[in-house]
Amino acid sequence: MNNPTFPQHVTCPFCGILDRVSFPLYGAGIPRIVYCDTEAGGCDQYYAVTATVQVIVEPTVHRIDGIGRVLPDPGARDEDGGAR
Ligand SMILES: [Zn+2]
Repeated sequence: MNNPTFPQHVTCPFCGILDRVSFPLYGAGIPRIVYCDTEAGGCDQYYAVTATVQVIVEPTVHRIDGIGRVLPDPGARDEDGGAR
């Protein structure tokens, strides 16, 4: 199964620099151990980070004329003989 990952920046709780962590779509809530790399200016500490995934479903409605209902015939007359 395809499980895409989403790279995010997280802030080290010890020194405050930004570390880059990739979170998988499925399992993002499982704690990941992050090393604050000294070669990237970090503080040589480990910390745990989890992520939440939010899915936004926003429907967009499109009208399709002529499908699902009968449009009135412009030349048709109603029961009284008058124009519709
Ligand atoms: Zn750090």
